[in-house]
Amino acid sequence: MAKALKGQCFCGAVKYELTAKPMFVNCCHCKDCRRQTSSAFAINAVIEAKHVKIVKGKPVAISMKTDSGYPHDIYRCAQCQSALWSDYGRRKVLLFVRSATLDKPISPDAHIFTRSKLPWVILPKDVPVFKVYYDMKKVWPAASLKRRAALKAG
Ligand SMILES: [Zn+2]
Ligand SMILES: [Zn+2]
Repeated sequence: MAKALKGQCFCGAVKYELTAKPMFVNCCHCKDCRRQTSSAFAINAVIEAKHVKIVKGKPVAISMKTDSGYPHDIYRCAQCQSALWSDYGRRKVLLFVRSATLDKPISPDAHIFTRSKLPWVILPKDVPVFKVYYDMKKVWPAASLKRRAALKAG
């Protein structure tokens, strides 16, 4: 990637860079995301943890309860409490960066859990929309699937 995407928390105590393009960007309209962000949806850029380079500060992990029983850690700035990224399942290798913390916003590749989308959120026609989730093999670009598989392989 020519230029790293830069991001930070609200107060600037934590700064980071994405050293690769995200594999995929989900805009999630589920009730958990809405409550956790206190907004209409969460925009998560899925990326390998090794490509999230912290250049300043140290985010703290806050553990969330989930329906699946798997842990969900949200990493926040210790000072201003902005949520920077999530580690679903505490896998440590894969992060969901809250892309609204990037300096330059990026657009979602798909809208998910739209069954609980708020009625006044109008979605663009050129982005795939899913009532719940999707089959990654059908939706993600081949290069991203390859990166995802490499992570699973270990
Ligand atoms: Zn902060
Ligand atoms: Zn969600």
